[in-house]
Amino acid sequence: MKIAIMGAMPEEIAPILQKIGSYKTIDYAGNRYYEATYKNSELVIAYSKIGKVFSTLTATTMIEHFGAEILLFSGVAGAISPELKVSDLIVATKLAQHDLDITAFGHPYGYVPEGSVFVAADKELLELSKRVASSMKKSIKEGVIATGDQFVANEERKNWIGSIFGADALEMEGASVAVVCNALNVPFFILRSISDAADMDASFSFDEFLLTSANESAEFVMKMVDELVNKNI
Ligand code: SAH
Repeated sequence: MKIAIMGAMPEEIAPILQKIGSYKTIDYAGNRYYEATYKNSELVIAYSKIGKVFSTLTATTMIEHFGAEILLFSGVAGAISPELKVSDLIVATKLAQHDLDITAFGHPYGYVPEGSVFVAADKELLELSKRVASSMKKSIKEGVIATGDQFVANEERKNWIGSIFGADALEMEGASVAVVCNALNVPFFILRSISDAADMDASFSFDEFLLTSANESAEFVMKMVDELVNKNI
């Protein structure tokens, strides 16, 4: 089984590369991919660059070019739910694109014909994450993640996204990765650690907590990888 581990920014995959230690580097389609053998399983690791288009390209490349059969995303996000504080972990049960808008034609936000507002994450990976969380004695929240090509640093916009999509957190890549994996029948798991509250202080909070939150998420994702590799599914 070949596992893809993806982030959006270098900081999000750095702890993963550090843990793996040795890897091969391949430059392809404007990105750098890292391939490694880890406990007898194959990994492909990359950060996509920020946003839906770059993350679509990277997820597609990992699957179609590198042959990934399962995809785990690790990164940071802004909190919508007041329950979520900096460094808390949230795993997406389903994801939507909050900036996709053809409502002028009577469609709901996040919807285009032949698509769907939400894409659901893989149930088995969600179950596995619960077992991993309890073995690490960590609490992780399951919730809806909304994705768009905007860094949200505005209470009003954040509350709007929360109310329209029932979203608990927001970021800039999850839903596009979800669309790719869903279309190509690849089970996926999107994990985020909170870096900010998507409010007027968001950019300062993001800068302060990016590294620690990215590490939190990466550590959890590597525990997921360990479980997957041990089971050899
Ligand atoms: N500081 C970076 C830009 C970060 S953009 C630079 O200057 O290059 C924010 C990144 O973190 C995106 O990859 C997104 O997925 C996630 N993120 C964290 N908080 C967010 C927020 N409040 N709104 C949108 N995305 C957020």
